[in-house]
Amino acid sequence: MVNMLEMYGYIRTRKVKEAFLKVDRANYVPSNYRHLAYADEPLPVSHGQTISAPSMVAIMLELLKVEEGHKVLEIGTGSGYNACLLACLGAEVITIERVPALRDIAKKNLERCPCKDRIRVLLGDGSVGYPSEAPYDRIIVTCGAPRIPPPLLEQLKVGGIMVIPVGGAFYQELVVVEKTEQGIKKTVWGDVVFVPLIGKYGHKWA
Ligand code: SAM
Repeated sequence: MVNMLEMYGYIRTRKVKEAFLKVDRANYVPSNYRHLAYADEPLPVSHGQTISAPSMVAIMLELLKVEEGHKVLEIGTGSGYNACLLACLGAEVITIERVPALRDIAKKNLERCPCKDRIRVLLGDGSVGYPSEAPYDRIIVTCGAPRIPPPLLEQLKVGGIMVIPVGGAFYQELVVVEKTEQGIKKTVWGDVVFVPLIGKYGHKWA
């Protein structure tokens, strides 16, 4: 899987490759999908939610440019796979999930994460962020938001980067947000498909 991700240019840096090599995706997919753990496909986790395709995870992590010691906020814990990768990139990770059963699944999966000591899994509406630990060097949103939630922009450090899918419930644009002294710079990577961000600054249906 990692060779394929590198060959097709999804993995571009040595540190992202090393993180992918440390984290076994099979530990994050349900047992009835384990035969597809290394396929480049999103897979169901539970409660209609998914673990993203490995190529999408690699694209987002390369865009995020995580450095050792960064404080990273992830919205949408899902299976816990991306949180483990972030921690293995050297980040201190706070990850928020809104579905209690998924939070429990992620916590269990993350017992096998080699970098688990750097991860805190929280339950709640991540669309409002987590102000008590702000500001964050990096914010990654792994569900589709109708717009960039203002609290997430506020909680991003000056010099920080946020990667977030923005758009409708069925497809979105992947946006890279850079917060500078001069203001906010947004760059669109391309079209993507994520499950919706549901919450105060997300979609309203559940
Ligand atoms: N990062 C995950 C992984 O590595 O498996 C994949 C995340 S999945 C594509 C999106 C997740 O976002 C779902 O688990 C969903 O329940 C969660 N979600 C949706 N709205 C949310 C919100 N407001 N706050 C926190 N999590 C949310």
